[in-house]
Amino acid sequence: MLPYYRRVHRKADGRELILYGLHPLEDPPLPEPALPYSPAPHLRYHPLRREWVVYAAHRQERTFLPPKEHCPLCPSREGGFPTEIPFSRFQVAVFDNRFPSLVPSPTPPPEGLPVPAGEALGRCEVVVYTEAHVGSLATLTEEERLLLAWVWRERYQALYALKGIQFVMPFENRGEAVGVTLHHPHGQIYAYPLVPPILERESQAFRERPVLLELLPHLEPYRVDQEEGFLAFVPPFARYPYEVWVVPWQRHPGLWTFSHEEMAAFARLLGRVVARYDALFGEAFPYVMVFHAAPLGEERTFHFHVEFYPPKRAKDKLKFLAGTELGAGTFVVDALPEETAKRLREVL
Ligand SMILES: [Zn+2]
Repeated sequence: MLPYYRRVHRKADGRELILYGLHPLEDPPLPEPALPYSPAPHLRYHPLRREWVVYAAHRQERTFLPPKEHCPLCPSREGGFPTEIPFSRFQVAVFDNRFPSLVPSPTPPPEGLPVPAGEALGRCEVVVYTEAHVGSLATLTEEERLLLAWVWRERYQALYALKGIQFVMPFENRGEAVGVTLHHPHGQIYAYPLVPPILERESQAFRERPVLLELLPHLEPYRVDQEEGFLAFVPPFARYPYEVWVVPWQRHPGLWTFSHEEMAAFARLLGRVVARYDALFGEAFPYVMVFHAAPLGEERTFHFHVEFYPPKRAKDKLKFLAGTELGAGTFVVDALPEETAKRLREVL
């Protein structure tokens, strides 16, 4: 294991905050206000799509694009604006989202609904990548990125150990084009009480065949980048022009089974994929990045991978999901994966 320090702090409103660092974190906490915190999300069942929808009305009040000096993810300063993190320094910070879609102690759903309803059990965490307000996975130092990878690994293990959790997903929404409300480099982790539909379909595919192990030897024309043990590529079946997947050559259920060398190679490759995106149009490239690890019980066949979904199809053009994508689930893509892969491969 990477020798890192870990410090658990209980926030004034009862939420948990964990600080991680390569150096001891011994500063006393700064004063913090107890912010109103009373989320009450619930689930309702969609009888035609056969999937659950989360209702979290309290999320409307969440912080929207604050100015830099009011960033809730920056370290706090003595006498300054109190942020979510009442410490003057840290390297990575993880805390319970103040506007969660899933909560550890859910309230019962409203009664009398004409469809099945359920409790929104789970956890929603915010993962702050760095204390620096500006940056990205690409600009972190190699050491910082590796620490972040170990934090993801630790959160996977902690969240899968909770009763009732079926699936854990770290993800990052980057850029206003994908609805980001805070610019400070950060991601999130959702721990779900169910296996979401996309993961259910992927799990079924892996139960039937080792799909990625079969595909990997044929991906040279789609290769974007690589590290020892890992390949980054635009899938030959990409649904977004600049979609990229990062996949270990060996099947792993999640990054919790990576060796030390694999952790380091994985962290480096993620950073370089983002660096390639940013080099493509000379600006921060918006994307949604999701980690797909094995849902509970699928560890024997599921093949861990990371999927990047950038909404851009050109520098000034966004790909919108419209009639055929939203209404039918069939994507129409106006660029061939082998061509966008070449662009991403040659850009650095
Ligand atoms: Zn900030």
